[in-house]
Amino acid sequence: MKENKILRSDCFDTIIVGAGIVGCAMAREFTLAGAKVLILEKGEDILDGASKGNSAILHTGFDAPPNSVEHACIVESYHEYLSIRKKLGLPLMKTSALVIAWTEEEENLLEGILEKAKLNGIGDTKIINKKEVLSKETQLSSDVRAAIYVPREYVIDPWTAPNMYMLQAIKNGATLLRETEVKAGKYDGEKWLIETNRGIVKGTNVINCAGLYGDKLDEMLIGKKAFEIRPRKGQFIVYDKAASQLINAIILPVPNEITKGVVICRTIFGNVLVGPTAEEQKSRDDASVVQETLESLRLKGEELVPALKNIPITATFAGIRPATEYKDYCIKHYEENNYISVGGIRSTGLSAALGIAKRVFRDFQAYGSQYETREDIIYPSMIPVAETEKRDWEKAGNEGIVCHCELVTQREIKQALAGEIPAGSLEGLKRRTRVTMGRCQGFYCSAKLSELTQGCFKQPLAKAIKKSSVTKADDK
Ligand SMILES: Cc1cc2nc3c(=O)[nH]c(=O)nc-3n(C[C@H](O)[C@H](O)[C@H](O)COP(=O)(O)OP(=O)(O)OC[C@H]3O[C@@H](n4cnc5c(N)ncnc54)[C@H](O)[C@@H]3O)c2cc1C
Repeated sequence: MKENKILRSDCFDTIIVGAGIVGCAMAREFTLAGAKVLILEKGEDILDGASKGNSAILHTGFDAPPNSVEHACIVESYHEYLSIRKKLGLPLMKTSALVIAWTEEEENLLEGILEKAKLNGIGDTKIINKKEVLSKETQLSSDVRAAIYVPREYVIDPWTAPNMYMLQAIKNGATLLRETEVKAGKYDGEKWLIETNRGIVKGTNVINCAGLYGDKLDEMLIGKKAFEIRPRKGQFIVYDKAASQLINAIILPVPNEITKGVVICRTIFGNVLVGPTAEEQKSRDDASVVQETLESLRLKGEELVPALKNIPITATFAGIRPATEYKDYCIKHYEENNYISVGGIRSTGLSAALGIAKRVFRDFQAYGSQYETREDIIYPSMIPVAETEKRDWEKAGNEGIVCHCELVTQREIKQALAGEIPAGSLEGLKRRTRVTMGRCQGFYCSAKLSELTQGCFKQPLAKAIKKSSVTKADDK
C-alpha cells in the first residue's frame, strides 16, 4: 500500500491527527489551499470513530445556539457543501424537516423555536397546523398538533461525503497514514516531532481532530486540555426499504436541553432510521446496542408512524458523540505551540465539517501561515451508492451483482478495494459500497465477498461478517 511509507525526512506544513469527518474536511481545506498535509489515523480505515454512525442530516443550523461557534460552522459548511456537491458527486436528498409538537406543552414551545430559527438566519421556516402537517405526512399519527416546517434541512450520505473530502485531499497531494497512532510529540519552537507506532514524523503545525480522544491528545501533546470528552451514545433501528414510502420529511421532536431527540427519517440508501438515543457513558469505544432500548425506539417509531408496524427491521447500530462539558464546540488555538485543538464536535459534525475546516484555516492564516495557492485543483469521482443517483447495477460493465439486498456490483467492490483509500476493513467496505448491509446481512454474498477481498483485510472476512451480523440479528 502506498500509504505504508513513513516519510521520516519530509517536513509537512500541517499534521492532522484523526481521519473522522472533521479530519477529512480539514485535510481537504488545507491541501486545496496549498499546504503540504499529513493525516495520521490510528484506525484500519478512515471514519472509524464517532463518524461511523450518525443520522446523516445536513442541518441548516435553524435550532443551533445563536451566536455559537457551532452555528457559524454549520451555516458556512451548509453553503460550501451545496456549492461543491455537483463537482465532487456528493448526493443530496431534499427532504425538508418538520419539528412536530405532540402535546400542548410542546405546541407552546414552537413559537420560541421559530424565533430562534429566524435569529439564526433561517427565515423560510414557518409554523403549520395539524391539517397541513397531515397533508404533507399522511402516515403520521393523527395525534400531531402542529409543526415547524424547515424546507432546507436535507439528508446526505454520511460516508461518501467525508470519503470524497479525503480523496480530493490525497489526489491533490496530501498523505494519509492509517494504522498510525500518535503516541507522543514535542514542539521545539519551530517544528513538531510527532512520535507514532510507525516512526517519527515532522510538521510545522498540528491540528487535533481526534474526536472521542481529543482531550487525551491535547494532554499528550501540549500538556493541558480545555475540555473533557463525555461520550454520548446514540442507538438506532433501521427499517426495511418499504418504509421509505411512509414518510417524506425528517420528522423531528421538539428538542430538550440534552438532545435533539428521536428522529424518524429516510436514509439516502432507501431505508428509514429511528433514533438516536442520547446516553452518557464512560466508554469512548463501546457502541454496542441494547435490546430494551431498541425495543423502546421501535415502539416510539410505531407510535408516531403506525404503518411502521408492518415493516421489518433490517439492522440496528449505535454511534458515539464526542460531547464535552460544554454545549458549544471547543476549537482552541494554542499559538505558542502552533497547535489547534478541534474538540467536542458532538452532534452536528457531518453538517459543520467544511465550515470548521475553513474557520481553522483562517485562524492559522491570521497567525501568519501562508501557502502557495494550488492551481488546477483535481475533483475526483466515485461510483455513487445513494438511491438518489443512478446506481452502478443499472450501468453497463458492472461485472454483475454481488450483494442482492443492496444491489452492490462486483465493479463497485473492486473499486472500493483499490485506489488511494482502499477499504481497510469489512466495515470500511460496507461504508463505501453498502455490501452486506441489507436484509440478509451478508448471508448470501459472504462467500463471493470472501473471494473478492482475499488478502485485503487483517481480520478474515468470515469472522468479521459473523461479528457484525451476530450483533444485528440478536438485536432485532
Ligand atoms: C448518534 C449520532 C447521530 C449524529 N447525527 C448527526 C447528523 O444527523 N448530522 C450531523 O451533522 N452530525 C451528526 N452527528 C455528529 C457527527 O457524526 C460527529 O460530529 C462527527 O462524527 C465527529 O467527527 P470527528 O472527526 O470529530 O471525530 P471522529 O469520527 O471520532 O474522528 C476522530 C478520529 O481520530 C482518530 N484518533 C484518535 N486518537 C488518535 C491518535 N492518538 N492517533 C491517531 N488517530 C487518532 C480516531 O481513530 C478517529 O478516527 C451524529 C453523531 C452521532 C454519534
